[in-house]
Amino acid sequence: MTNRTFTMIKPDATLKGNTGGILDMINKAGFRIVAMKMMHLSAEKAGEFYGVHKERAFYGELVEFMSRGAITAAILEKENAVEDFRKLIGATNPAQAEEGTIRKKYATSIGENAVHGSDSDENAQIEGDFFFSKLEQF
Ligand code: GDP
Repeated sequence: MTNRTFTMIKPDATLKGNTGGILDMINKAGFRIVAMKMMHLSAEKAGEFYGVHKERAFYGELVEFMSRGAITAAILEKENAVEDFRKLIGATNPAQAEEGTIRKKYATSIGENAVHGSDSDENAQIEGDFFFSKLEQF
């Protein structure tokens, strides 16, 4: 266990002005921000990040969506970070997300679901390194 996870606040949330509200929920849940930056992903970079979904029917839609507006990328630290953060964000489809989760409050649909959260320690490391150099991880 690394006690770190990676998150992105997605373009739907950025464009609706929900970045501050989401960061507040993250802080109140006990996560410490150890890296953070805002950027507008190119379609190429978004496609690379979600390369694992390349064969899925929604891949084109996902790439278009993730490059539509700015994202906020961050690395978060907390005991049991990966699992606890997946609980905090809730189910991929907001219709199935529990009360009190970020996606229940801020997501619009299964695609435009406000936040990303790594699904394993290994992916948290890979995804954090995708966005941040060692000098940018505190
Ligand atoms: P996550 O780990 O909960 O983010 O979910 P997945 O790894 O299964 O999917 C990655 C992302 O692809 C999701 O967060 C959504 O933004 C998007 N996605 C998943 N399923 C669908 C779908 O059926 N339609 C669309 N348009 N996007 C989807």
